[in-house]
Amino acid sequence: MRILITGAAGFLGSHLADRAIASGHQVIAVDNFLTGREINLAHLQGNRSFQLLNRDVIAPLELDGPVDWILHFASPASPPKYLRFPVETMRVNGEGTLHLLELAQRKKAGFLLASTSEVYGDPMVHPQVEGYWGNVNSVGPRAVYDESKRFAEALTANHRRQTGLPTRIIRIFNTYGPRMDPEDGRVVSNFICQALRNRPIEIYGDGRQTRSFQFVDDLVEGIFRLLEVDYSDPVNLGNPQEFTIADFAHLVKARTGSASSLVFKDLPVDDPRRRCPDISLARRILGWSPRVSIEEGLGRTIEYFQQELRRAG
Ligand code: NAD
Ligand code: UDP
Repeated sequence: MRILITGAAGFLGSHLADRAIASGHQVIAVDNFLTGREINLAHLQGNRSFQLLNRDVIAPLELDGPVDWILHFASPASPPKYLRFPVETMRVNGEGTLHLLELAQRKKAGFLLASTSEVYGDPMVHPQVEGYWGNVNSVGPRAVYDESKRFAEALTANHRRQTGLPTRIIRIFNTYGPRMDPEDGRVVSNFICQALRNRPIEIYGDGRQTRSFQFVDDLVEGIFRLLEVDYSDPVNLGNPQEFTIADFAHLVKARTGSASSLVFKDLPVDDPRRRCPDISLARRILGWSPRVSIEEGLGRTIEYFQQELRRAG
């Protein structure tokens, strides 16, 4: 297949590109490097199955030749990054999604949207099932991300209703692993980098809020299984093992053997109090469940950040 991956220079997009090429597909990688990094794709440069285009996907994209799938991953994903680029985030999820749906229609390709557990907002239902509609503040600062992803889901679902386009929607829960940017600002990269530098580990709020962390390889496996299945409603992909953020800080400190102290900082506005996926649907339709334990995943991620910090000097 010929697969177009938007946001391919980012954390997740670069892993998808690897998986697609390893499976014998051709990849057209598109990125404007707003939050992504060339180094994430450096190992694929020169590969005959790989092509990189420096483009902003907010604008319509013209492409020669056939396309079988569009995997739309372009969007800032870390809270500090989407708060730094609020309009860009809303536009890539709004106009960008619309233009890529139209491209999929022109190419008779399938379209997969990378949506997010943020569509559940600060959830009143726990763990979160796909049938839960969410609890989102439409005028709060996080709305640049969660409301624009909700709009992207609505665009995708209604484009399919109107045109019959094959579509997939995945709701990704907090995912971590190698190739995260040390400056990304999300909790896994922050805690590991702070621990490795023996600097204070900064917990926002009282640390009793929860998140559930999925290793990137598990997510990639779930995505490629979903392409094989005719299912267009949203599917949660995440690891249901749930941690308080304080417990997660202790775990990172122990796994890195760090001398860091734990300090408490202000909680960001509208920070969800708990988050954990119900993955019954993915288990049933994909035969999928996460395989990588937190111990193994953290081990591989810590090793990666050790190399990154050495490389950066
Ligand atoms: P990332 O910031 O590492 O990657 C996003 C990529 O999109 C970057 O390379 C960036 O340069 C690119 N991009 C942004 N705007 C663009 C534009 N207008 N045109 C072209 N490229 C653009 O983030 P990530 O963690 O890899 O997330 C990728 C996708 O997955 C995002 O859509 C995000 O919302 C979704 N997601 C990720 C997670 C997670 O835990 N990593 C969770 C839920 C959803
Ligand atoms: N968080 C934290 N310290 C950090 C970064 C994040 O305590 O350095 C908290 C944040 O307030 C949230 C959780 O960790 O409760 C997960 O944050 P992240 O930015 O990774 O993703 P989110 O799930 O909020 O999108």
